This record gives sequence, structure tokens and C-alpha cells, in this order.
Amino acid sequence: MSVIYDRVALIGLGLIAGSMAHAMRRGKLAGEIVGTSRSAETRETAREIGFCDRVVDTAEEAVADADLTVLAIPVGAMGSVARKIGPRLKHGATVTDVGSVKRHVIEQVAPFMPKHVNFIPGHPLAGTEHSGPRSGFAALFENRWCLLVPDEATDCEALGRLRTLWEAMGANVDEMDAEHHDLVLAVTSHAPHLIAYTMVGVADDLKRVTDTEVVNYSAAGFRDFTRIAASDPTMWRDVFLANRSATLEILGRFTEELFALQRAIRTGDGDRLFDYFTRTRAIRRGIIEAGQDTGAPDFGRADTN
Ligand code: NAP
Repeated sequence: MSVIYDRVALIGLGLIAGSMAHAMRRGKLAGEIVGTSRSAETRETAREIGFCDRVVDTAEEAVADADLTVLAIPVGAMGSVARKIGPRLKHGATVTDVGSVKRHVIEQVAPFMPKHVNFIPGHPLAGTEHSGPRSGFAALFENRWCLLVPDEATDCEALGRLRTLWEAMGANVDEMDAEHHDLVLAVTSHAPHLIAYTMVGVADDLKRVTDTEVVNYSAAGFRDFTRIAASDPTMWRDVFLANRSATLEILGRFTEELFALQRAIRTGDGDRLFDYFTRTRAIRRGIIEAGQDTGAPDFGRADTN
């Protein structure tokens, strides 16, 4: 694969930006990768690992002469960074982001984008519960979806080039409008994270079950909640605040279903429970058939205690 962008600026050097840098290096997709991060500590770690060609101290320096700028910071921080870099962006450059919420990011960033720049929001549906510059790896986006959110004014050539970059990093690319993106992600990611956070919180509060019991007997389902609930607190605080209405809509529906199942348990309505669980099992099969997870027992873990 040949170089897609001569110079790429990564603003933020955590899991997603680090993984992009590793994947771009592997495929020789960028002439030069320039990175920056808010803290001196993260910048130093990134220099030590060496996944960027240059690590600079400010976002303004990083975007100078960049053909592609990627905002890879929490969604709540994107507006203030966009304000700083707006006047420094190169004529004809593309700016994208990787934020987990789209409408809010567009509202925060678009006002600071000059007319001569293509702002194309994006969201790779790939991640782990780890964060920071040491957590990235080149294969993160392989066979995962990346959603791009163009609008009617988006330049086709710029959109095609960004799509080519994501595909070259291993992702499947789809386009979606911002409102639909936020609703889909409320169902597939945001509400499930909130439920996991709540379940782990409940176990932590329950005095009749000891901490040791929770830890030792977690393989019965709880362990998978704890993995999700270990996700970065800053990122997830910002996601819920930025995708408030879609998340609240899905949580409302979730609560109704939960009450219906609670009632089925109380009234001993086994048929209802059985039918419900049969329907949900089919959804799991669909995810495995689409190659988005493994069908191996216990998520393919070697240790099946
Ligand atoms: P991460 O590993 O925690 O890295 C966050 C980066 O943002 C760090 O460079 C950090 O700088 C910087 N940052 C934090 N707060 C900031 C602020 N107030 N102003 C400027 N910079 C700030 O995060 P990540 O997982 O890569 O997530 C980055 C973005 O990708 C988020 O918008 C998230 O919604 C999205 N995303 C995440 C996942 C996932 O599963 N993790 C998946 C898809 C999309 P310092 O370290 O220097 O403080």
C-alpha cells in the first residue's frame, strides 16, 4: 500500500491514536506521523515507544502542514482543541475525530473549522478497557467497523481518501448520519456500559456477599461486566454527558423490559423467560456469524474455571 497522507497529526496519544500510528506504520500509510498529547508524561512515553516520527509539545505545532489531523481525545475536550488548531490548519487539509459520540462532537468542533478544511467526523468501533499510550496495537481495527459521518457538503475526494486509510488499517467502513450513529451506539455500547458499571457497583455495595466471594466466583457472568466496567472513567463520563438523549431513551426501554422480566420471575412465567432468552440467543449467533466475536466457549478464554 502506498502513502495515503504525506503528514498525519495525531492530537491525543492514547489507545486509539497509538493504535492508528502502529497500523499506519505497519502499512506505510503516512509519510510522517506527528503526535502530541496534553501531558508531558504521555508525550515522553510516546517518544520512548517511538510510534510517531515526531512528538511535539502543542496541538498548534502538530497540525502545521498536516494533510490529516485526527482528534483522538475525550469528546468533552474536542471543542477547546478545535478552537486552538482551527487557524493553523493547512488549506485543503482533512480533520477527523474518533469520538464515541457524533452529534455533540460536530456541534463542538465544526464552528472552529475554516471553510478551506474538510471536517469528516468518524468513529472506529474498536477498543479495549485499557487506555494510554502503551495500550495501542496495530491490529486493533482489523475486521472492526469504522463509521464515517459526512454531510452534503463533504468533498468526495477527501471522504474517499479517509475511507481508504481506515480500510488500509484493516477496518470495514460505513457511512451514517450523526443522529442515527448516536442512537445505534446508545444500544450497542453506551447503555451496556452503564449497565455493567451499575452491576459492578451493586456487587460492591452488597454487604451480604463478601469481596472475596465476588472475586473468586466471578466466572459465573460477573467477570465480563467487570471488564467493561474497568473502562476509562473520563472517556465514559464524557460519552454519557454528550449522548444524553439517546442513552436515556434506550435506558427507558431497558427499564421497561427489566420490569417485565422481573414480573415474569415473580409470577413464575417460565414460558416468557424461555421465549425471551431464545430470542436473545439468536442475536449472539448473528454477531458470531458476522465475525464480530468468537463462538468458542467462554469467549475463547484458555482458562475456563
Ligand atoms: P485514552 O487512551 O485515555 O487517551 C486519551 C488521550 O486524550 C490522551 O492523549 C490524553 O492526554 C488526552 N486527553 C485527555 N483529556 C484531555 C483534555 N481534557 N484535553 C486534551 N487532551 C486530553 O483514550 P482513547 O481510548 O484513545 O479515546 C480517545 C477517543 O476515542 C475518545 O473520544 C473516545 O470516545 C474514542 N474511542 C474510544 C474507544 C475505546 O474503547 N477506548 C473506542 C472508540 C473510540 P494525556 O494522557 O496527555 O493526559
